[in-house]
Amino acid sequence: MAGRILIADNVPTNRIILKVKLASAFYDVSQATTGTATLAQARAERPNLILLDVDLGDMSGFETCARLKADPLTAHIPVAILTPAQNPEAKIAALKAGADEVLSKPLDELTLTARVRALMRASATSEELRRRNETARALGFSEAQSQYETPGKIALIGATTEEAMSWRAGLKGMVHDEIAIERADHLLETIYHGEIADLYVISTRAGGDGLRLISDLRAREATRGAGIVVVHGPQDRREALMALDLGANDLIARGADPEEMALRLRSQMRRKKETDLLKLTLDEGLRLATRDKLTGLYNRHYALPHLDKIAREARATGQHFALMLIDIDRFKSVNDTWGHTTGDAVLIEVARRLADNLRGMDLVSRFGGEEFLICMPMTSLMEARAVAERLRAGVCARPAAIAPDTTPISVSVSIGLAMGGDQGAATPDIDTLLAIADRALYAAKAEGRNQVTLGSYAA
Ligand code: GH3
Ligand code: MG
Ligand code: MG
Repeated sequence: MAGRILIADNVPTNRIILKVKLASAFYDVSQATTGTATLAQARAERPNLILLDVDLGDMSGFETCARLKADPLTAHIPVAILTPAQNPEAKIAALKAGADEVLSKPLDELTLTARVRALMRASATSEELRRRNETARALGFSEAQSQYETPGKIALIGATTEEAMSWRAGLKGMVHDEIAIERADHLLETIYHGEIADLYVISTRAGGDGLRLISDLRAREATRGAGIVVVHGPQDRREALMALDLGANDLIARGADPEEMALRLRSQMRRKKETDLLKLTLDEGLRLATRDKLTGLYNRHYALPHLDKIAREARATGQHFALMLIDIDRFKSVNDTWGHTTGDAVLIEVARRLADNLRGMDLVSRFGGEEFLICMPMTSLMEARAVAERLRAGVCARPAAIAPDTTPISVSVSIGLAMGGDQGAATPDIDTLLAIADRALYAAKAEGRNQVTLGSYAA
């Protein structure tokens, strides 16, 4: 099913006409006859989109919309209000009530389905983010702080600079975001230099072809999540509908009331900020899921698949890589003598010294309690030996922590080294390499600790 749509209208024939149009596009349609019923069904059914008529008998479509938007359970569901033909006041009232879209009757099928597709897409994105965010929260990741209050950035790209300037004049005092006028032929360069807007308002005629700009913005990582609002004239209605399919979020007719533009931009800005916020929480969740809390190094869960990737790349390119298992010597006695907190301080400092002595492309992870794993891509045996020796010497060179009674605490590490990627097709898999490094580490311990031992393939 393409998605669930709730239609609310107190006139049965209106509902039936809409239902037929939408069902033919494979949407799953349900119906409500009053405002009260709409509120209840929206809560129970959680549709992906709600279409409201302005008159619902017991209350207006505007009031119903405002109530849907005030209820945390339904606030995120996109709402489109159907207004009588060419009624600017109704349009403004709908946008003020928080409607995501205003459609005027009579509805032609092309406009209806294009708008519905665009609204559904926006809903699917925020639904997916919301779902992942809930998973992250269930796993104990904290929520990012809201930043609705901070002003955003809006870029205006008119067919001419004069057109963009007239938009800016109309918006004056109605939005509190930073507004910049951009030229279509310079836009990508501006983005390349890191000047990214939250919203782009683009004329269908911008730079001769506004649609190209939409595709460009959607294709770039930096602007993929930006809001895009397209301004179109009565003649380029087809382009406007194409713009929706290319990823524009909203349409405005050229010459529309500045208040309408301001309301639409405000609603798009809210959506953009909300999406940013959800992403931020996810990124933080990802960081927490891949990092060790105590040392900030990558954890074992992250290190193993990464190692696999390095091994596969090495096999494809014939390059060598090195693997090191590092274990702190007699660490139990640090805990036993000075307590766990001092033991933790030693762990943090050893982790820092290891990380400081490696290249950016080397991966250092906390593999277990006082055990670390280092993976160095594109590294020869000679280089690996030199690095291992440098790491070993760095750890014992000076005290790693100071005990509560000010006694300096020094520790050393033993290192087991294994080389990968130099055996052609016979290169052992990661488990085998880890076993080789582990045996080498054990040998380093047996031979007196504080030393590096190279593992051999012969088991
Ligand atoms: P060896 O030289 O043979 O490696 O001796 P060892 O004492 O280091 O070896 P063992 O494996 O017996 O002890 C490891 C100790 O590391 C035991 C455990 O209490 C301690 N440890 C593991 N994780 C942590 C941690 O997060 N914090 C602290 N303070 N200690 C930890
Ligand atoms: Mg150990
Ligand atoms: Mg140890």
